[in-house]
Amino acid sequence: MNTVDHALLDGVLAHQLRPLAKTITLIESQREDHRARAHTLLEALLPHTGSAIRIGISGVPGVGKSTFIEAFGLYLIEQGLRVAVLAVDPSSNLSGGSILGDKTRMELLSREPAAFIRPSPSAGSLGGVAEKTREAMLVCEASGFDVIVVETVGVGQSETAVAGMTDLFCLLQLPNAGDELQAIKKGVMELAGLIIINKADISLAAAQTACSHIRTALRMLRPMSPNWPVPVLTLSALQKDGIAEFWDTVKRYRDTMTASGEFAARRKHQAATWMWELIDASLKHRFHQHPRVRAELPGFTAAVEEGRVTPSAAARELLGFLNG
Ligand code: GDP
Repeated sequence: MNTVDHALLDGVLAHQLRPLAKTITLIESQREDHRARAHTLLEALLPHTGSAIRIGISGVPGVGKSTFIEAFGLYLIEQGLRVAVLAVDPSSNLSGGSILGDKTRMELLSREPAAFIRPSPSAGSLGGVAEKTREAMLVCEASGFDVIVVETVGVGQSETAVAGMTDLFCLLQLPNAGDELQAIKKGVMELAGLIIINKADISLAAAQTACSHIRTALRMLRPMSPNWPVPVLTLSALQKDGIAEFWDTVKRYRDTMTASGEFAARRKHQAATWMWELIDASLKHRFHQHPRVRAELPGFTAAVEEGRVTPSAAARELLGFLNG
């Protein structure tokens, strides 16, 4: 058992940004000893988590996510709140670079002492791209942030991952005809508890048309909750128009879902799902790392491909090596 790193723990709990950043760096590290220290810290921080509201923000590149998050963050700070912005960036896994969470994208917000912005970790981990972000989110909560924004782009599985770690998943859309069909096709609209049509300043008429298209589209989908008809808001992130209404809607969501018990139920479900994702990932990892499996897998694969062994017999044999 590791002893807890008190300098970091106390710093995080005292709402200091440097210890917070260092703790997240520890969490993101691939080194075994760092992972062990990070786990001990997380265990110690866990009782201090849970009081922030976790908001997911998604949308295609260029829709205005960083403009929106900056305007929203600055608004929250004006209200006396503290905001942390994290990112799940599927592109960082492929390219090693990151198109999200970059500090320079939210320059004004990043200069605020009441804000913390963390780019997406670039390396993958056992639990996938979202794993480290989930842990970073808990550390931010323990450090007293009132609102955690988790940003992602509309690529791959990242939207499902972000919806699975936040209380409210918000989809940013452009006022373009046909965009809503894309979102429905990909199944993203079903994840959303709130839809925002951004850039309403360019053409209010276009934004309102998009709004009514989306409302029609939403009627065809399974509602996320009987208590929460998904609102569609028009907004201009650039002109900071609609930000207060957005925050009011988030608070109304929290109150409504808390009253119905769904807020707590969603978090419980997310925690259990997270555990299972980690179990699945680490079983798979153990399997692939096992020396006997590594030695015999190519032979079994060839035998299955050539029809000499049935897939079920091969799977049974290979899994059996784990017990040996
Ligand atoms: P992201 O890729 O989703 O993070 O999008 P950005 O926030 O970087 O915005 C992309 C471009 O759209 C930038 O040039 C922004 O200035 C612009 N933009 C963002 N929000 C609005 C808006 O509400 N109205 C207008 N007219 N432009 C916007």
